[in-house]
Amino acid sequence: MSAEIIDGKKIAQSMREQLKERIANLQGVTPGLAVVLIGDNQASQTYVSMKQKACENLGIYSRLIRMPESVSESDLLSTINELNEDSTIHGILVQLPLPAHIDETSVIEAIIPAKDVDGFHPINVGRLQTGGEAFYPCTPNGIMKMLEYQGIDLTGKHAVVVGRSNIVGKPMGQLLLKESATVTYCHSKTADLKAHTKQADIVVAAAGIHNLITAEHIKEGAVVIDVGMNRDSEGKLCGDADYDSCKAKASAITPVPGGVGPMTITMLLFNTVESAERFSKVK
Ligand code: NDP
Repeated sequence: MSAEIIDGKKIAQSMREQLKERIANLQGVTPGLAVVLIGDNQASQTYVSMKQKACENLGIYSRLIRMPESVSESDLLSTINELNEDSTIHGILVQLPLPAHIDETSVIEAIIPAKDVDGFHPINVGRLQTGGEAFYPCTPNGIMKMLEYQGIDLTGKHAVVVGRSNIVGKPMGQLLLKESATVTYCHSKTADLKAHTKQADIVVAAAGIHNLITAEHIKEGAVVIDVGMNRDSEGKLCGDADYDSCKAKASAITPVPGGVGPMTITMLLFNTVESAERFSKVK
């Protein structure tokens, strides 16, 4: 068997086309995303410029607020408060990680839940579990869209999520549960990873370890979603799954690059448009 390759770029492109139509229906309201970037971490700058470019291509207004590494927590919180009040801004994103002297929880909780397009505020995290209007974190929500696009029915399927971070693993499991999958979480203290992943109809690998998941870890016909973004010994971008061996055994697999990655930014755009619709009562 050779797996179907789940083309994240193609799915992301098709979602972006749909978003263009939704923006056109906003009757003159331009969705606005504010990105707060602190310090000059190279990776953060790259992510931020990718996000800005994606906004620009779609007709979303993006505002970059740069602050020095030495910024005080109170100055950062005041900036967030101003953005909370700004009617041209529908989404606020503070690029993580933050400098050590700033408390991440306070910053995340300062963003009003209605503009928290990253889906990290406890109100949004809670509503993912209990229901109600919310934003879901971009990476796992993008994976749900991919599975939907591929026509993979989740009802009654056993999904094993490898990783339990707040931004990927935990919300991933919750979203799969919402769609009636039976969910198992694995993490660094899991006693026998393979014993769990081998039972899975769907494996979501989000540990950040190159080649953690090999063909031996999956059953014949499993769906493998690879979230990992790692560098191999030659510096090449690679995922958590051993792509070639898993591809030969799986029924569908996401490549790295070109799989989950393109969906993450697309879901940020999606949440920003959704927010603009909610604020302008189009929805
Ligand atoms: P974290 O480092 O926050 O979390 C990693 C998780 O993996 C932890 O829960 C950890 O367990 C678990 N883990 C570590 N080692 C093992 C192991 N040997 N077996 C099983 N579980 C293990 O990472 P993130 O969740 O932020 O990201 C995960 C990966 O996804 C990274 O490679 C990251 O770069 C990538 N990523 C990709 C995105 C994309 O758009 N494609 C977006 C976001 C992330 P424990 O909790 O016990 O420490």
